[in-house]
Amino acid sequence: MIRLFLAAMIFSSVAVADRGGWVASGGELFRFGKNPWFLKNTTTVEYCVEIDRATISASESDVYAAVSDAIEYWKREFDPQQAMLSKPGFVTVGTQTFTRVSPCRADLALTFKIGAGTLDVDELKSLVEPSKYVGVSIRKEYDQVTMTGKGIVYISSDRGPQAYNQRPNSGHLYPEAWKEKKLLTYALIHEMGHVFGIPHTGVGLMSEVFLEQLLHKKFVQFYLDKALDNFLSPPMNFDVCMLSGSFNTTFFQIPNDTACLRFEGVMTAGNIEWKLSTLKTPKDTPVPAGTLKASMMMQFAVSAKPALIVQLPSEQTVFSLMNRNMNTFLIGPMFSDSTAQGVFQTPVSTRPNAVQVELRTDSILMTAVVSGKLTPVLVYSPPSLLNKIFPIGP
Ligand SMILES: [Zn+2]
Repeated sequence: MIRLFLAAMIFSSVAVADRGGWVASGGELFRFGKNPWFLKNTTTVEYCVEIDRATISASESDVYAAVSDAIEYWKREFDPQQAMLSKPGFVTVGTQTFTRVSPCRADLALTFKIGAGTLDVDELKSLVEPSKYVGVSIRKEYDQVTMTGKGIVYISSDRGPQAYNQRPNSGHLYPEAWKEKKLLTYALIHEMGHVFGIPHTGVGLMSEVFLEQLLHKKFVQFYLDKALDNFLSPPMNFDVCMLSGSFNTTFFQIPNDTACLRFEGVMTAGNIEWKLSTLKTPKDTPVPAGTLKASMMMQFAVSAKPALIVQLPSEQTVFSLMNRNMNTFLIGPMFSDSTAQGVFQTPVSTRPNAVQVELRTDSILMTAVVSGKLTPVLVYSPPSLLNKIFPIGP
């Protein structure tokens, strides 16, 4: 049964899809097709935004803000790794200063086209039917010597005959989605991920079906409610409720009828500080339950996986032999899975309790000694999209 549904989901993604790293002309090898558009030799990027106001439900100022938020999202994600990525064999991305200019000019490396009316004749010809796409990034040119790209990020109309939900079998898509700035920001984050060189991966923001899921009537509320997740590092703000994991009430010294345990945290230089609170129902007012402080022990040591790889053309002059560690590729920002050693303290306890925290980009596991036995005291994994379609439990 589930297998059948899965097949339907995958096929339906063909109806409304996006493409990353597609090149209309220039005859480049596919091998460099996914490289970032900008590397360390580009320090500033001027971009412009064209809006087809008749077919876009968002205000002009919301579109500008969403574009800027999407760029800043990735800069924030990459920032903590830039020092490490400056070493030989690695590559920094997203180091540029992005500035919006107006009006658009043919020489700009990055143009945001919001709504079908902004597409020129060639772009229309290439996309064939713009309403097939919720969003798409098109790198039109790539200079293999300077390793710089040039192209557009297109976001579909959400009103009128060219809107993403005007095709047969698109009735499951939420209409006029760009009225919600957060949904537009999510779509732009996905497309900017491609501009920064991140291919389709995993089940989150950069998954191949992300844009389709984002606008799926069943998921829209989920994305509107939940805080924007990190992409490269583990979640810092989350609620552990029955469907998203479990917790040990003895260890956390909380009432047995606690429905959810809320974590609100910040990570600074490998140190995490979480404020915990309990909720009797998922919509209840939170009651403070203590603090959990943890320090990372083995950052990058545990199954570090690169989020992107940059392939080096033989003509390139950006990276010296030493820069590239003699390789024909460079390793970009990595998913930062790690292990942290921490202590938990309630608002009234005088003695902190030791806890080990396994941090993954898609899950958190905490282990501690409870009544003399090593016990998992918290398991969290973000509610998966599949769970939203097929709820488990009561
Ligand atoms: Zn994509």
